[in-house]
Amino acid sequence: MSGGADSDLRNIAILGSTGSIGVQALDVIRSNPDKFRVETLTANAQADKLIAQAIEFNPNAVVIADDSKYLQVKEALAGKDIKVFAGKKALASIVESGETDIVLNALVGYSGLEPTLRAIRAGKPIALANKETLVVAGELVNRELEINRVAMLPVDSEHSAIFQCLTGEFHNPIECIYLTASGGPFRGKTRQELEQVTFRQALKHPNWDMGAKITIDSSTLMNKGFEVIEAKWLFGLQPEQIKVVVHPQSIIHSVVQFTDGSMKAQMGLPDMKLPIQYALGYPNRIPSDFPRFNFMQYPNLSFEEPDRENFPCLDLAFEAMNIGGNAACRLNAANEIAVQAFLQEKIDFLKIPHILSYCLEHGTQISNPSYEDYVQTDEETRRLAIEMTGTN
Ligand code: MG
Repeated sequence: MSGGADSDLRNIAILGSTGSIGVQALDVIRSNPDKFRVETLTANAQADKLIAQAIEFNPNAVVIADDSKYLQVKEALAGKDIKVFAGKKALASIVESGETDIVLNALVGYSGLEPTLRAIRAGKPIALANKETLVVAGELVNRELEINRVAMLPVDSEHSAIFQCLTGEFHNPIECIYLTASGGPFRGKTRQELEQVTFRQALKHPNWDMGAKITIDSSTLMNKGFEVIEAKWLFGLQPEQIKVVVHPQSIIHSVVQFTDGSMKAQMGLPDMKLPIQYALGYPNRIPSDFPRFNFMQYPNLSFEEPDRENFPCLDLAFEAMNIGGNAACRLNAANEIAVQAFLQEKIDFLKIPHILSYCLEHGTQISNPSYEDYVQTDEETRRLAIEMTGTN
């Protein structure tokens, strides 16, 4: 990842280039043509957006996961020196391409797991925005990272904050970390009020501009729960070392407390481009013209306890972590189904934690799961969760 002047240009493969993180990563790359080059772009189904990105960034290859859009992309890029592939298999194997220096995994959900594992086995460093990779199979992923001596750089803003606080401190033991949470759009609502909320209200996040799935996860605090699990695997922490504090302004992105009691925090305006750029440029900080924080505009930074009673998803994550094995894989699969059902107005907001809790308790528990065990757990739990979305 470093070397002479020529090799400082990093070839980036972006998985999920048409999503929120993918688009912001391309903003970063556009502003730094001397640092980054796009090697691969992949999209699920947004063919028009993928075509426009490919024409602008001229990657070596593009993948459209939706097979039915293959001809459209192929024809639009005819005459350009860009390879076009289609299908989920192509998406998972494209990360193995020899020219790629870093894989930015910005896929949503469980679908990010296989490409992550293939990239690791191909020796490619991962910039990880797909937290579900670690939620579902953190144990397996860590083992593969170790065997293949591959680096994983967090893109999630809280984990980027912790990572930045640890730079130069990796030899020093951590007492605990504080993951900050905005509290989401429903912070302070009573249970009665939560019975009535709609997915349109849930999609209005107060601070962060993100995709639909993660925005719903933020509204239930499942996102914060997943981030707790993600932190455990990224930083080798015990569950009791991971604390969550609500900080509605989202200026302090997270905090590390060392064993001498000293605390380091990373701060800034909430903008995902910063953690994306830090991961892609690590260990270097690249100058940017992102808006700067002004203390006088935020005279009061405030903190409060998360509402664990009305937002039980946070504790479900701790429960899954304590059970171990494939438990968090069940939690994630149930959540993907429940969030989708909520977005389609098939279930109410409060049914989401209900489905998650049921699937966590009732699935088959496996300790030391293999990749095949995770695949099976995911399928089995989805079936169970789908059954539950149809009942009241
Ligand atoms: Mg986050």
